Amino acid sequence: MKRRYISKFLNRMKTTIGIPVFVCFVFCAGKSTRVPSGAEPGLAIVRANVQTFPEGADKALPQVKKFTHEDITVFAWSKDFARGNATLIEIESSRSLDGIRLDINGRERKLLKGRGCLFVLHANSADSKLTANKLTVYRGKDVAAEFELPVVKKEYPVAHSKMTVNNFSNQSKPMSEKTLQWIEEGRKKKMQAFISAQENFLTSDLRYPRDEHKITSPFFIKRIYERFKLVRGKKKKLAGKTSFHGGTDLKGPTGAPIFAIADGVVNLAEQLYYDGNIVMIDHGNGIISGYMHQSELLVKAGERVKAGQLIGKTGATGMVTGPHLHIFLHINGVKVDPLSLLHLPLRPAH
Ligand SMILES: [Zn+2]
Repeated sequence: MKRRYISKFLNRMKTTIGIPVFVCFVFCAGKSTRVPSGAEPGLAIVRANVQTFPEGADKALPQVKKFTHEDITVFAWSKDFARGNATLIEIESSRSLDGIRLDINGRERKLLKGRGCLFVLHANSADSKLTANKLTVYRGKDVAAEFELPVVKKEYPVAHSKMTVNNFSNQSKPMSEKTLQWIEEGRKKKMQAFISAQENFLTSDLRYPRDEHKITSPFFIKRIYERFKLVRGKKKKLAGKTSFHGGTDLKGPTGAPIFAIADGVVNLAEQLYYDGNIVMIDHGNGIISGYMHQSELLVKAGERVKAGQLIGKTGATGMVTGPHLHIFLHINGVKVDPLSLLHLPLRPAH
């Protein structure tokens, strides 16, 4: 049994890097690749192919779950399978992969071609009530296998102090027509930018979005924005506005580099009222990353970008308390912790 996995792992390594595996262990230590771990006996644990991790960033190996039924084997990879985190689901077969389809919780998901597998990225919302995802693998019309993938109930933090966001908290003056128009146009442009291509742009390369790691506000933290009116020069408090953080804030002084986390096509590079200078990158098939509050945009809509490409600079444009990068990631319309993608050992066929 164990030997079978080791040989499978060696084969994967060869197809992943194209050179003998032992050479890789010696010379490519440090460069992330598929490496074995003793975590689960016999099962090869692999690492995502992340180009650079700044000091202190979480570069833990992903967890893996394996399900087998007859000729079908499903591998699921995730940082921890928590709700709000990205999961990679791969389907392999000792027979042909022709006609293989996948439903997740009763909805068909488009499978992409991987090296020796079909794959899809999946995510449960950070406030999902599901305790498990039901995976049904079909061959043609027949059910070939059914599995349950547990959803770990992660509790996200709650901020204790209210946030004052400069002029955005001040409700004294109604917004001008011009501002309202800017907001509305921005909303439409952003909605358009969430339309994802059917083509897969992802490669196995991923990149940490900054050259430094410090989370200043974590994903899905519950925050309350302070709102006030000025009455005779004095602040009169209004009811606060509760929101859940739709991305992760990473420290960065104005002008620090921002890198694309994966290959894709720029769907939006604009200055918006709330988001400030924003870049949105379409990675294909409903996977979209966004980079907000930039001081400078270095890419244009329609441009093809590579993982690790410099796309802009951190700043304090839009609704912010200070300069930083707000990065977000959507998988099929579900907001996920963007850094959770960096744990996934992607192996698309191209
Ligand atoms: Zn943020």
